[in-house]
Amino acid sequence: MSSTIHPFDQDIDDNTEWDSPMFRLAQQQFLKAAEIMSLDENVRDRLLFPQRSLTVSFPCRRDEYAEVETVFGYRVQHVLTMGPTKGGIRYHQDVNLGEVSALAMWMTWKCALMELPFGGAKGGVRIDPTKLSRSELQRLTRRYTMEITDIIGPDRDIPAPDMGTNEQVMAWIMDTYSQQVGYAVPEIVTGKPVVLGGSLGRTEATGRGLVYLICEAANHMGMDLKKSTAVVQGFGNVGSNTIRFLAESGVKIIGVSDVSTGLHNPNGLEVNSLLEHIDQHGILKGYAGASEISNSELLELKCDILAPCALQNQITSKNASKLNCRMLAEGANGPTTLEADQILIDKEVFIVPDILGNAGGVTVSYFEWVQDTQNFTWSLEEINDRLHKIMVGAFNRTVLRSQRDKLDMRTAAMIEGIQRVAKAKLLRGLFP
Ligand code: GLU
Repeated sequence: MSSTIHPFDQDIDDNTEWDSPMFRLAQQQFLKAAEIMSLDENVRDRLLFPQRSLTVSFPCRRDEYAEVETVFGYRVQHVLTMGPTKGGIRYHQDVNLGEVSALAMWMTWKCALMELPFGGAKGGVRIDPTKLSRSELQRLTRRYTMEITDIIGPDRDIPAPDMGTNEQVMAWIMDTYSQQVGYAVPEIVTGKPVVLGGSLGRTEATGRGLVYLICEAANHMGMDLKKSTAVVQGFGNVGSNTIRFLAESGVKIIGVSDVSTGLHNPNGLEVNSLLEHIDQHGILKGYAGASEISNSELLELKCDILAPCALQNQITSKNASKLNCRMLAEGANGPTTLEADQILIDKEVFIVPDILGNAGGVTVSYFEWVQDTQNFTWSLEEINDRLHKIMVGAFNRTVLRSQRDKLDMRTAAMIEGIQRVAKAKLLRGLFP
């Protein structure tokens, strides 16, 4: 007997264009939330894949003039319903379409949870930026910007920094775009240097926002921060600022790490001397005031607050049961797998999920975009006050939903975000 399959009736597993472990994680988290909230099936299927995905390959000339490398780049826009799309650009040797798509989807929920007028996007270039000279990095950035010019724009899609990129890279993006149109367009990108229209407080915003939430969460749990210990994985922009603000809040930092090593000192690490060491040597390895430990030992240290601020996929079914913290505050995107989530929920670890925990960055990016489009600047105090208000508001909404509907914090945060996007989609309706 032959059966006809309706063309619309395909399984999501048939759509393998974006397939990767990270994209599967993003989809699984979304489907879990969609099921709990009984999300309209048509809306669910629309949100399960990005609306636009651009893959480019382009040449990058090395300083050795005859050497030209073919490089792969991506820009993915997940949801175009909410306003322009927003999200960072990542330079890393493992970047692929699936990873960028997962990050774009998380940006959608993050922006919606924070009530920012953006959909989610993300970009990436598959290259190790630490192996490039400054001039190679500049050429790569300018050519990548040219390749994605057609789909970005101040009212369309606004890039920002992510892992492996920084404010200098943003300045080159802004310049390349501005050269094309013939006048300066600061609002094409956020996370720029302040002199080019960047916002005060943007560089440290993700770390600052995370620590605002750690304070709220500690309060909620009845944890005295001044008597608490923290372990922070990652010493990039997010990790180093998280450490700085945690220390300012009186938390004892007992473990830190970067790509070179992990460091442990049960009596507390001297944060200023760590920052000085990084300034001088660029990496943590060789720091005298602590003993060296591996990444897995670092994550399993007994502490009150564990803040993964590095790569995705760090807390998995393999190590989740060995974690020894009371609060998991996620500065990274996607550090915890779905299986690990369940183990941590059973262990009653309080989770500040990534889409909430690291949302300080995109929130101050939003402030930067608003300032640029209005040709007006805000003081650092205004920015930090507004950031605090938005972060605490989102935290309270998430805790409320989690308590009311008996949900874990991640699912509660996801539902808060998804609900807003679904409502907007239904209100806009279908074209044609
Ligand atoms: N890359 C950051 C994130 O993952 C910031 C994005 C932005 O500022 O647009 O949230």
